[in-house]
Amino acid sequence: MTTSGSTSDSPSAPTSESLRPVSRTALSVALVRAYESSRPDPLFDDPYAAAFATAAELPLPAAGPRSGLAKALVAHGVLRTRFYDDRLLAAGADQVVLLAAGLDTRAHRLDWPAGTRVFELDLGPVLAFKEQVLDALGAVPRARRTVLPADLLEPHWPARLVDAGFDPARPSAWLAEGLLVYLAPEEAAALLTAVAALAAPGSRLLLEQGRDVTATPHDPSLAHVTDLWRGGLGPGTRDWLDGHGWATELTTLDRLARRHARPLPGPSTAAFIEAVRRPAD
Ligand code: SAM
Repeated sequence: MTTSGSTSDSPSAPTSESLRPVSRTALSVALVRAYESSRPDPLFDDPYAAAFATAAELPLPAAGPRSGLAKALVAHGVLRTRFYDDRLLAAGADQVVLLAAGLDTRAHRLDWPAGTRVFELDLGPVLAFKEQVLDALGAVPRARRTVLPADLLEPHWPARLVDAGFDPARPSAWLAEGLLVYLAPEEAAALLTAVAALAAPGSRLLLEQGRDVTATPHDPSLAHVTDLWRGGLGPGTRDWLDGHGWATELTTLDRLARRHARPLPGPSTAAFIEAVRRPAD
């Protein structure tokens, strides 16, 4: 079941051409998921990812990534997708909010418990493009799905989320996958402050531990993604959450690589945070 917020800011015939550069990064993630889903031993199956790439007229990757940075980003995207899949289902919340959902199809591909509501928030054009592709495929969500076009840097989205049926008095699960790195530190802090105000005690939040993006090696073929990185809260992300009412746990990319027998292409400092909202003092 899909309900949708106002799409008045979406073009009538959405195409990938109408996407802002930051929203086009969702296509890069879809390409990673399409490639992983085509492997004989995938860590997840996203049966819709290839259709997004095709609709955007992007060539599907026939072979694996070539450069060191591309290999690292693909390994990161694959292991992160699987980690968040597992942890969102384990959270056991019947309200799930996908911040900057992009072309994430978890509402359609994960085995959600009956009664789960999934809210997807992102900029209008990318959600319109996504709906067009999913509708053409006849994709059926496996949860009660609500699509909310929203700029997460604007102050109005929390009220719209509540208007759409989200209940801030009950525990929820939140995902901010591949988002904070595109924000300035103060923007990331404001967004996490808004999330905290909606997250009842026991709610869970999943996101990347930030890194020093200035240390990223340059690869011209990936500049359309990496040039947009502003770092978010960087390596201070976990400390920020710990200081703002969350209890955090860190899982390193290296640990996930060992868990899934997927050796990393090189040393990595990447890690993922699972934060649980503490009761108010
Ligand atoms: N989370 C998705 C995934 O992992 O497949 C998409 C990640 S993509 C790298 C980054 C997403 O952030 C894009 O879909 C983009 O539109 C979204 N985004 C960036 N800034 C945003 C904002 N201010 N409000 C809403 N969405 C935003």
